[in-house]
Amino acid sequence: QAKRNGRNQYEIYTEEMGETEIRRMQLEKDLRYALERQELFLVYQPKWHLGGNRLHGFEALIRWEHPQLGLISPMEFIPIAEESTMITSITQWTLDTAAAMAFDLQSKGIYQSIAVNMSAKVFRSQQATEMVNKTLDESGIDAQFLELEITETMMLTNLNEINLELNRIRSMGVRISMDDFGTGYSSIGLLDEIPLDAIKLDRKFTLDVERPTKQAIIQAVLFLGDSLQLEVIAEGVETESDEILLQNIGCDIMQGYYYSRPMLTEDVVNWVREVEKSSRCL
Ligand code: C2E
Ligand code: MG
Ligand code: MG
Ligand code: MG
Repeated sequence: QAKRNGRNQYEIYTEEMGETEIRRMQLEKDLRYALERQELFLVYQPKWHLGGNRLHGFEALIRWEHPQLGLISPMEFIPIAEESTMITSITQWTLDTAAAMAFDLQSKGIYQSIAVNMSAKVFRSQQATEMVNKTLDESGIDAQFLELEITETMMLTNLNEINLELNRIRSMGVRISMDDFGTGYSSIGLLDEIPLDAIKLDRKFTLDVERPTKQAIIQAVLFLGDSLQLEVIAEGVETESDEILLQNIGCDIMQGYYYSRPMLTEDVVNWVREVEKSSRCL
């Protein structure tokens, strides 16, 4: 202990950097086997159409149950996957799994779209188009039940190439939405360039939505969405008061812990049945 205390700041700092680096290297190594070892799984979070008092589809969110390290966030392992070709196989698996889920729900009479988060890295040389095509072919679901979520930051490079692919994919009938809207640098300008069906207002706008400035920004986005015929979805709605404030300024579609946390596959149908039973009708 005395020895440890005797170390200077610089040494402690480099020691911590070392641990981060070691974890990253281990994750990178183990991620290669995560798919075949079935350590990856999807959870599903509903979107809620408040105006229509009904479910408005699901978003699939990926999880990694590491055998030693436990649950790893996509914020940590997706960037690692993106540095190699692993992102391609992971994305294909995610598309296929989400589409299979949509198909399974349909067999139970639940017709809802499932949105998949896409990484910029798969929008290269028509890769994404082929991946989506394969998913639609093999799952047998109609394209309208699949949705892709893209982000502003992924449009920073290769805008034209990505745009071309998005147009192809959208012409197949797959919906496209802009995730984390308002967190990048080119939000509004991009609306004029990218084919879109929906924008998802980032959680930073729904955080302390009681502030007049936040409300003004949200209203402006709602107006834009209305004019451009885009759905606007508020992310990160956590409380009833968030819901009320958002509803008062004209927001219709919500997503967040207030409605449901992301759910395991086996819990989704029960949740939908509960919602059907309660006063809210589907
Ligand atoms: P995102 O797509 O913007 O997803 C929203 C994140 O906010 C999710 O975190 C979700 O669990 C969380 N969230 C939802 N409602 C609330 C709420 O009311 N309050 C709070 N505090 N958080 C809420 P998650 O699942 O950890 O995902 C983080 C990010 O990782 C996602 O952000 C997305 O960018 C990325 N991601 C997740 N799954 C995938 C995937 O399959 N592929 C790729 N490429 N990225 C993914
Ligand atoms: Mg998303
Ligand atoms: Mg989001
Ligand atoms: Mg986000």
